[in-house]
Amino acid sequence: MINVQNVSMQYGPTLALDRVSFEVKEGEILGLLGPNGAGKSTLMKILTTFIAPLSGTVTLGGFDVLDASLKARELVGYLPENVPLYMDMRVDEYLRFVAEARGLGGARLRERIDWVVAACNLAPVWKHGIIELSKGFRQRVGLAQALVHDPKILILDEPTNGLDPVQIIGIRKLIKSLAKEKTIVFSTHILQEIEAVADRIVILHEGNIVAQGTKSELAAQAGSDTQSLEELFIGLLSKNRGAV
Ligand code: ADP
Repeated sequence: MINVQNVSMQYGPTLALDRVSFEVKEGEILGLLGPNGAGKSTLMKILTTFIAPLSGTVTLGGFDVLDASLKARELVGYLPENVPLYMDMRVDEYLRFVAEARGLGGARLRERIDWVVAACNLAPVWKHGIIELSKGFRQRVGLAQALVHDPKILILDEPTNGLDPVQIIGIRKLIKSLAKEKTIVFSTHILQEIEAVADRIVILHEGNIVAQGTKSELAAQAGSDTQSLEELFIGLLSKNRGAV
């Protein structure tokens, strides 16, 4: 469903991604794990056509993000790191606006809005101004805008960032439940998050993939039988990239 081949990206002198390649199969949850500055957000912006890579190719459902950008975009729902909300709108106005911008109308629009309100638990704040919302509810509205057009692919940049533990569990459960019918890529720098949600893991460090696979495949690559993802992460980084 997602194919990334030799993707590089540079900002001035900073090489944010260096020939990154990986695939995500339909229905899979891929966790992008890496410290701050690893290149996770840059990769997600490229996957969602927000920025173009310096080189390399990305296809979504077979559509090239540069040559067939509109077709690729129709397949994707994106929750950026900073949720794109209009503070002067109410939740209901904002989600209707996003749904219309995504081409929905009539009964289908109402059906999808009802679905996201239930899935993201928005009923308590449905008529509230976005400016009034807590961080947890803002994140849920952000997820709702990513889901409203029923995309096949969901790209979530640090979806639980800044949430309290109860909200984090809620968002993780929601991501898990969506995976039955969607292909999901999410990023995090939190190891427990990956362990709780991802089927497969790509570890990014300084713009390079240092390892990818299931947790047990990564343990085999690290030559370690550790059950701790943290130890695994540190082991793989020091093995592949020198001491960290
Ligand atoms: P992550 O999401 O893993 O924290 P980013 O993709 O945000 O990583 O950043 C990767 C590298 O690219 C970092 O060194 C960051 O400072 C740099 N970078 C990201 N965005 C920009 C930008 N718009 N201009 C210049 N440098 C950037």
